[in-house]
Amino acid sequence: MAYVGRFAPSPTGPLHLGSLLAALASALDAAYHDGTWLLRIEDLDPHRCQPQYERQILAQLAAHGLIASTTTRLRQSTRSEIYRHALNELKSRGLIFPCDCTRKILAQQTEACCERDCRSRQPDLIQSALRVDLTALPRAQILDRSLGPIIFDPERHRDVVVWRRDGVAAYHLAVVVDDAAQGVTDVVRGADLASSVPWQTAIQRLLGLPEPRYLHLPVLTDADGTKLSKRDHAAPLADGQAITAIRQALGWLRQPQAPNSLTVGGTIRWAAEHWQPQRFAGLESVAYE
Ligand SMILES: [Zn+2]
Repeated sequence: MAYVGRFAPSPTGPLHLGSLLAALASALDAAYHDGTWLLRIEDLDPHRCQPQYERQILAQLAAHGLIASTTTRLRQSTRSEIYRHALNELKSRGLIFPCDCTRKILAQQTEACCERDCRSRQPDLIQSALRVDLTALPRAQILDRSLGPIIFDPERHRDVVVWRRDGVAAYHLAVVVDDAAQGVTDVVRGADLASSVPWQTAIQRLLGLPEPRYLHLPVLTDADGTKLSKRDHAAPLADGQAITAIRQALGWLRQPQAPNSLTVGGTIRWAAEHWQPQRFAGLESVAYE
């Protein structure tokens, strides 16, 4: 079994408690199942992603006992041709159409379908975002280990952006191509990303790629239920506070607490041996305290 931790080395990149929660849960589920935890550096945006941010994230992960120097890494910036190959395959089957519906919708990374009828356009006519037509796929149900059934409905999920207006592979296409390349069998991430499952499953089915199992985690929120943002209370993790942060994250995940006497590595090993994801089953958010 293979799992992956995904990190963007951008100015907002340093890990905070919310991103630790996801990385920790993914690594613990991997260790519990004797799986491998891999890394993915999501550095597709050359203007925002810089080596010093990547070094900072890797140092934080190491300080929290989550990676070793041997952890396998995949870097998205080296894979443009592979994403383009997947795009061309969809294009050759007549499934790609350009869409210039408002920038606002495209900036939201494609949660919405094309608002107008752009389908009749030729894919190479103009510089615009490219969408894949999903209407021919049958309705499907994907079972999440925590949230239960997630539905792909071709009426509702009619299409999705797979190539951005600026010429870069879009999130959903890059994710499924990379998951297949890294042999990812299990995706563990925040419940705010559960809405991407129908689209990612649809693209996997069109490209004949394997479909991973999903475990969506409670998202860390303010007391009023707003997702904890990096701007507000989510200060970057400090290396010297690693055990405190890990214990806090285990508490939010409703996990049993490791003995106080353990080191960072010992706490991670203990938590993996006692890992019980059923304790947060169905929970979509947990308040920061
Ligand atoms: Zn459109």
